[in-house]
Amino acid sequence: MNATTTDDGAASYPGGNLYELFRARFPQDRSRPFLETDTGRTVTYAELEELTGRYARLLADLGLKKGDRVAVQVEKSAENIVLYLATVRAGGVYLPLNPAYTRAEVEYFLGDAEPRVFVCRPDAEAELAGTAAAAGVAHLLTLGTEGDGTLPARAAACAPDFDTVPCAADDPAAILYTSGTTGRSKGAVMSHANLGSNALVLHAYWGFRPDDVLLHALPIFHTHGLFVATNCVLLNGSSMLFLAKFDADRVLALLPRATVMMGVPTFYTRLLAHPGLTRAAAAHMRLFISGSAPLLADTHREFGARTGHAILERYGMTETGMLTSNPLDGERIAGTVGFPLPGVSLRVVDPESGAILGTDAIGVIEVKGPNVFSGYWRMPEKTRQEIKPDGFFITGDVGKVDGRGYVHIVGRAKDLIISGGFNVYPKEVETVVDALDGVVESAVVGVPHPDFGEAVTAVVLRKPGAAGPDEAAVIAACKDRLANFKVPKRVFFVEEMPRNAMGKVQKNLLRDRHADTFNKEKA
Ligand code: AMP
Repeated sequence: MNATTTDDGAASYPGGNLYELFRARFPQDRSRPFLETDTGRTVTYAELEELTGRYARLLADLGLKKGDRVAVQVEKSAENIVLYLATVRAGGVYLPLNPAYTRAEVEYFLGDAEPRVFVCRPDAEAELAGTAAAAGVAHLLTLGTEGDGTLPARAAACAPDFDTVPCAADDPAAILYTSGTTGRSKGAVMSHANLGSNALVLHAYWGFRPDDVLLHALPIFHTHGLFVATNCVLLNGSSMLFLAKFDADRVLALLPRATVMMGVPTFYTRLLAHPGLTRAAAAHMRLFISGSAPLLADTHREFGARTGHAILERYGMTETGMLTSNPLDGERIAGTVGFPLPGVSLRVVDPESGAILGTDAIGVIEVKGPNVFSGYWRMPEKTRQEIKPDGFFITGDVGKVDGRGYVHIVGRAKDLIISGGFNVYPKEVETVVDALDGVVESAVVGVPHPDFGEAVTAVVLRKPGAAGPDEAAVIAACKDRLANFKVPKRVFFVEEMPRNAMGKVQKNLLRDRHADTFNKEKA
């Protein structure tokens, strides 16, 4: 079987700067709202144009040239979206960082990406100033959640007119870091065309209507909240209800004003746990979309029974944008991620022989398309390992395509853990635990968790006779060095690690052994 491709209807990127693609779709009446925050603040399209103009002018005045990086580690806010668009408008490369990253993690990103400008939270400025200076960052600015900080203050003094910097379709527009299995994060370089083509396809595939209102409760340092959600709204020239974070009470209160919500599976399990989720509460909604981690078939069914809505599950990743989606009009099948999107070629390959597999055969998923990135930032070797000479990117996800063309994800070749929608690569946590005195080795796995989907769980082999760390000490050490979502929720100790004939730790056995840990705790 050849790659499954659906070319019909593939919207092609017209070229140029991504901001201009959006601007051409802004509503004629610029007084219409682009976003409304949960504190009741509204940003209209007129204000969006004006603010991105001022911010872009400031960036240019700071010496930002085409291709220069703007690294950003701030809390979600309207100004944060303005900064994303202004960076693109100024021809820069937007580089968002999870606010949960520690100083040591930020040090790596700044050293690797060498941004010209770094924007951090006002309260983190003192802690990060030295780190930024050591990495050669020319300008450190701050941005708070209420339009406070040195960035908005300085931008306010700049003129609002700014000629968008002309860019080629394949010029970089953003770098998003993905955690590496080796513990080193890789920067996925996304071009204007990668982002623009994906947004055009999703906007059409999900049937956006002029009066759609998107409920936005996702973080915006990740492809899902930043590109999938926000770019669809921008292309639609419509508005979004912009929540600082997911909160089931707030989401339920806003559903009557929204028509589309995009969420991670955890959103849906939390909504299901709320008595306020009823058919009436969701009556105004047109579409619920889920992605970034597997949605349990049970969640899909329960949500359908409670609200009458079949959640539309889609699949994608940082390096590729969105790849597959269940249909808007056809059958949305629980436990599948739907069909390859228009323009995306998807094939399932035998990881050993490289042979392309047929219907229902399980193998590694490879993809190609205008949305697929062209490489990792300054990692040509890694890029060559993961993008084949014929242009197909090896996703590392294990899956199959069934007889009806629906794609199923059955596992992750790279042992990625997805906890509450955040990716955790075991190797990174293991490196921290292994470095502790009295530890021989650790294996970190994801085990089912009723709320987070998967919970980071560490299995540790201590040195016999030595005073190794206990559970609390392992957790404390991880908290010191890692973002909170990566810290193990439980730590178990073993006398021996289960291994296969090749000497590799059998993580599947560890997952099975601890599979009931969190369900038991809840019961
Ligand atoms: P990220 O780069 O953070 O977007 O993570 C991408 C990874 O998330 C993919 O390679 C998949 O392993 C996983 N993923 C995303 N969407 C789904 C989905 N609908 N079902 C299963 N896994 C998913």
